[in-house]
Amino acid sequence: MLSAKPFSALLVVGHGSTLNPDSSNPTHQHAEDIRGRDIFAEVACAFWKEEPGMTEVFEMIESREIYIVPNFISEGYFCRQVLPRELRLSGPTTMRDGRVIHYCDPVGIHPNMTRLLLQRADEVAPGIPRGETSLIVVGHGTGLNENSAKAIQDQVRLIRAGNHGFAEVLDAYMEEAPFVADWHKLSMAPNVVVVPFFISDGLHSYQDIPVLLGMEAQTGAAASEREVFRHNPHHLHGRRLFYSSAIGTERHLADVILDQVEEFDLKHFGGASVGVSAPAISQSLDSGSEDESALRTAEPAAGGTSTDFSITAALKRWLAEGRDVIGEVRITRDAGGVFTLRHKDDPGGAEASATSTPAAETSPLFAREIAKYDAEGKFRPLKSAPTLRSGWRLELRSLDEVRAALDHFYPAALGMLRAHEQGRLCGVPLREVLARQTGMYRFTNTITDEQAMTMIATHCDTKTRCLRRIVWGLSADQPLAGPAAGKSRTSSDANALPLLCMEACSHIVSAARKLAQAGHAGKEAAAAQ
Ligand code: SF4
Repeated sequence: MLSAKPFSALLVVGHGSTLNPDSSNPTHQHAEDIRGRDIFAEVACAFWKEEPGMTEVFEMIESREIYIVPNFISEGYFCRQVLPRELRLSGPTTMRDGRVIHYCDPVGIHPNMTRLLLQRADEVAPGIPRGETSLIVVGHGTGLNENSAKAIQDQVRLIRAGNHGFAEVLDAYMEEAPFVADWHKLSMAPNVVVVPFFISDGLHSYQDIPVLLGMEAQTGAAASEREVFRHNPHHLHGRRLFYSSAIGTERHLADVILDQVEEFDLKHFGGASVGVSAPAISQSLDSGSEDESALRTAEPAAGGTSTDFSITAALKRWLAEGRDVIGEVRITRDAGGVFTLRHKDDPGGAEASATSTPAAETSPLFAREIAKYDAEGKFRPLKSAPTLRSGWRLELRSLDEVRAALDHFYPAALGMLRAHEQGRLCGVPLREVLARQTGMYRFTNTITDEQAMTMIATHCDTKTRCLRRIVWGLSADQPLAGPAAGKSRTSSDANALPLLCMEACSHIVSAARKLAQAGHAGKEAAAAQ
């Protein structure tokens, strides 16, 4: 069992989605579960497609030792190439910016996933004898990296070798043989349990696989938009088919995340608790790190002598200065010390009548629910979009809770602002971000400067798209200009805490890809003539 690591942070990294509101749920839920166990000083999440991104998340973490666990199913393309690149890692342990960062294996390849699969199979088909059941573990299958299917094949092998009593245990895939669509030909038993080996109930497990299995004629809505999930069993091809939700939603996956941290310590430190040795590591960083010294010599709180440079202390100071609005959220405090968060346009205090005041929620977690959908119920993948719905009220008892809620409304925003005030927030130039695109997207950086400026002006427009102020340029010596110049300007509202953008988000990268692809296709067509 993993011992406490009071000097360390855990960072769980997930894929996320700009389309599916359910994709990041399991990662958030497992992080919340682990946070409640008080093993780590901090527990944070970061995503490839949602916020916080993999650069900005480091600004919201204050510990100097960080364990990163990819909440991914395989050791494939993402865990081997994309995540190390985006997280700026140089190996299993990276020392940079005054920190020690450990990169653990993804959850999906841990042997304890076998236990979860067996548990899930029994839950989905209660009372059905294993001896009369075919268990099929389903994955995506992809040509990008052979390891994608390996994690599933390993699990199938482990279950078979463990003699767990199933009539047969099989693997099947959406996009490569053996195909899940052939499940009735692949399996023999009268009962068939299908468990999707995916992290979340996203497009594949809820929408694509049911069609491939023949349970549904066409792709359905996302999980959270359904009233009822599944009515097992489904009677198809003369068999009873039991379909489970994704293995990543199993609540014991939080244990596997911790297992991967323990595994990392065993593999790289011979089982010694790194939590115990963390102060020693930190000490060695104390002397040499420029960033750390920048942290320590930064200006203390305005007019004060405080040496507390934590994000919560910065928040306390900002509120004392009357800077009580961030994005579309206003923060007030009553005489009893209770903080109230509400939409900045909603009436508060004496203006609010008993009928117009919404009932108060008291958990910071509620902020994530509020921030998830706009007033029309549409998913908000970009939390800094100017579409936060109104008509809610959060009453919180401490600054720590306020900070936690704000990290849900605007992930990493407080940390970035603190770093900016300390003069150490490094914006990543757009050209640098686009140059990291590989494979079929390697042309992304071919967009012209003019295209880039127009794209930023359109896709980052403050009134309609995103409230953040950009702190990066096109390149290191080329600031935003022309139609994009306004995105770097400071707001005139002295009471507002700015939302900062330190690196182009996935929306902008995706817009750049489309522009570059259109340009590339145009050139190819011209060359072919
Ligand atoms: S790149 Fe543009 S849209 Fe994306 S977070 Fe930054 S400012 Fe907002």
